[in-house]
Amino acid sequence: ATGLMNGKRGVVMGVANNRSIAWGIAKACADAGAEVALTYQNDAVKKRVEPLAAELGGIAAGQCDVNDPASIDQAFENLREEWGSIDFLVHAIAFSDRDELTGRYIDTSRDNFQRTMDISVYSLTSVMQRAESLMNDGGSVLTLTYYGAEKVMPHYNVMGVAKAALEASVRYLAVDLGVKKIRVNALSAGPIRTLAASAIGDFRYILKWNEYNAPLKKATTIEEVGDSALYLLSDLSRGVTGEVHHVDAGYHTVGMKAVDAPDI
Ligand code: NAD
Repeated sequence: ATGLMNGKRGVVMGVANNRSIAWGIAKACADAGAEVALTYQNDAVKKRVEPLAAELGGIAAGQCDVNDPASIDQAFENLREEWGSIDFLVHAIAFSDRDELTGRYIDTSRDNFQRTMDISVYSLTSVMQRAESLMNDGGSVLTLTYYGAEKVMPHYNVMGVAKAALEASVRYLAVDLGVKKIRVNALSAGPIRTLAASAIGDFRYILKWNEYNAPLKKATTIEEVGDSALYLLSDLSRGVTGEVHHVDAGYHTVGMKAVDAPDI
């Protein structure tokens, strides 16, 4: 992918550490020649993100807590001052109370339903409200979703409902922004062991189950997601918008899963 992203500048939101999907994407973009700015949720995350931003040779666009409109304003103001425009944006942000990522969906509280939807769904729209005017020459926007949006997955619960809404948002944003040549797509990643994933009940089992049943018989990695992201963030996909593309070793194509894997 050498040079594929030469001359492009973008912001990647959602790096928490070097296991984050956002980090896999940021690294792939930088390796392909892009200039990358990272935003981080808060000071606790900042300590881990700053050395990673330095590794990319990029800028840290500063704090951006999507729960706080003033913080989003500030992050995009920083980008405007620093760069004037951007070519791509990656949204890899989600949150739900871990107590509700186990057991029954029906027990979801109103508070956590609202918080989950706000941080994991509305944030893409509110971020695009600020990013639109920075994408003067068009752009490519990418968010992260999961198969739990399409089918019921154990413990995924309210996050599955949120991802379904996020995928619908991708289609609505794609139409609104298409006239400005801004493309909006999602990658549906297979299970990967990250900080956010550790909040999901029985995650180890889900990981093994996927590995055993996926056509490629392997777990998904952040490097694989990063490489697929390159296609959607670069001009190679200039004819693609409103799409949800699976990077899950093919798991979603299998209708009848095998019985238990021998080692789970
Ligand atoms: P992660 O924990 O590394 O990243 C989640 C990020 O969300 C963190 O950087 C966190 O700081 C950020 N975040 C949470 N609340 C925020 C807020 N209020 N403001 C700003 N940032 C906030 O985990 P990840 O698995 O890399 O998650 C990235 C995305 O990928 C999420 O949307 C997740 O749902 C999605 N995803 C993950 C998997 C998986 O198995 N790990 C699979 C498919 C999709």
